[in-house]
Amino acid sequence: MRIRLLLGDQLDINHSWFSGADPEVLYVMMEVRPETEYVHHHAQKLLAVFASMRNFAAELEGRGHRLRYLKIGDPANRQSFEENLTFLTAEHGAELIEYQRPDEFRLEELFLEMQARLPLCRVESEHFLLSRDEAAAWFAKRKNPVMEYFYRDIRKKTGWLMEGDAPQGGKWNYDEENRRAWRGDPPAPVRDGRIVDLRPLWEEIQKAGIASFGEPRAKAFRWPLRREEALEDLARFCREGLTHFGRYQDAMAMNEPFLFHSLLSFALNVKLISPREVIEAALAAADQNPAIPLSSLEGFIRQIAGWREYIRGIYWERMPGFGIENFFDHRRNLPDWYWTGEVKMRCLKQSIGQSLKESYAHHIQRLMITGSFALLAGIDPQQVDDWYLGVYIDAFQWVELPNTRGMSQFADGGKTATKPYAGSANYISKMSDYCKGCAYNQKQRHGEGACPFNSLYWDFYLRHRERLEDNPRIGFVYRTLDKFSEEERRSIRRQAEEYLEGIEGL
Ligand code: FAD
Ligand code: SF4
Repeated sequence: MRIRLLLGDQLDINHSWFSGADPEVLYVMMEVRPETEYVHHHAQKLLAVFASMRNFAAELEGRGHRLRYLKIGDPANRQSFEENLTFLTAEHGAELIEYQRPDEFRLEELFLEMQARLPLCRVESEHFLLSRDEAAAWFAKRKNPVMEYFYRDIRKKTGWLMEGDAPQGGKWNYDEENRRAWRGDPPAPVRDGRIVDLRPLWEEIQKAGIASFGEPRAKAFRWPLRREEALEDLARFCREGLTHFGRYQDAMAMNEPFLFHSLLSFALNVKLISPREVIEAALAAADQNPAIPLSSLEGFIRQIAGWREYIRGIYWERMPGFGIENFFDHRRNLPDWYWTGEVKMRCLKQSIGQSLKESYAHHIQRLMITGSFALLAGIDPQQVDDWYLGVYIDAFQWVELPNTRGMSQFADGGKTATKPYAGSANYISKMSDYCKGCAYNQKQRHGEGACPFNSLYWDFYLRHRERLEDNPRIGFVYRTLDKFSEEERRSIRRQAEEYLEGIEGL
């Protein structure tokens, strides 16, 4: 008799575990308090994870597997992985507890530690394009692991977008074609919420006293909660989004939270769908539809075969030290308006507002609006991490932490990103319509109504000159700064100081 434990982000029905039903195997799934409390979660994230777990459990039972599911409010639930597994092992006379290798360091450590008291045995999750060991071997061989070469190796290994040994179209990367602003044409696909009513589950979550923030939107829930729904979303993206994905990948627009993005990250991260099938669906769609440009297809595949896998490799390569890095020694508190959206800066109001409403913001909003502001304002990276890990539907530490602490906060001093992703109003106004109608003036660096992004941008580089000046990728910033008069630099610093002192009122 064996128990097989499934975590909330291990909902892969194609895992080899499920190839046939075995009466000697009892699958166990549980909703436990520590998982709801390790960070303050968005309401939709709680709903999406619990609802998908419950749907998955029903699917397993439908396929003839034995299953024990402990809901959050179940009186038998001891609210701890260890205590639940201990009583279930005794109750069923289990000799072995198998579990799939967790994706998060916190859980990996917990299960390794529990091994002293329980008969635990670990297997691969089979989800990623590379196993943990394969990825670790790639990173171990390189002093400066670069995403581009990691991605090329995956392309060579899989044959995706390859013509023999050469990249299709002659280039590995079409990123420079993927940076256009979007001005309303072509129209962005309509994304209606599904008519899935999660109100009974929401009541259960509230009854259990689980704290959360953000809008639950339980009446018409948007996110896919079953494999079929995720596959529908994938097909829809290939039909309606992929053609323009690449070109407008970095674009931002008021009241258009999704533009041409796929919205597949939640389904991918809880393993309802696999990266391989997403990529193969995109390739098949491009085969059928000549309107899908190679630059768009390549741009999309790079996010999944390149960034997603690479980020996971970095996480395991650098944990646990990665989780406490703070290169700039930033200590300021995250402003309260990150939790309410009540801020005058229009770019932040839109990006935070939609994050609270939808549990979603796309990559450039996360990197160049909320992330860049936190970096420029010198916010403690731990508080920034906690916000990102809580707010987004797709946030699991293995993918959130390298993106936030590494890419967006440069807290590892440049091991993930080669330069800080800091931007002024110049970038934001080029890539969005946020600045039109903003209370601040996008052109000004100081003085009445100057855009805080501008003052803080230059002040950031002045403050951290010693740490950054030798970085060849940002030499131009210092050359520009040196052309400013002494008086100009002083005014910028005074303005930045004023804004930082009154940060809650921005
Ligand atoms: P699309 O734009 O349609 O991209 C397709 C897919 O590519 C995504 O679904 C995702 O699986 C993958 N992808 C794209 N970029 C990345 C990346 N940098 N790292 C890993 N995968 C990527 N992604 C998460 O899944 N979870 C997170 O917690 C998370 N936190 C982030 C924090 C910051 C500060 C930043 C800058 C990025 C973060 N990302 C995170 C990456 C990216 O923003 C999201 O994957 C993406 O916005 C999800 O929306 P989508 O499915 O519409 O993606
Ligand atoms: Fe953001 Fe500044 Fe533009 Fe306002 S002017 S939207 S604060 S970048």
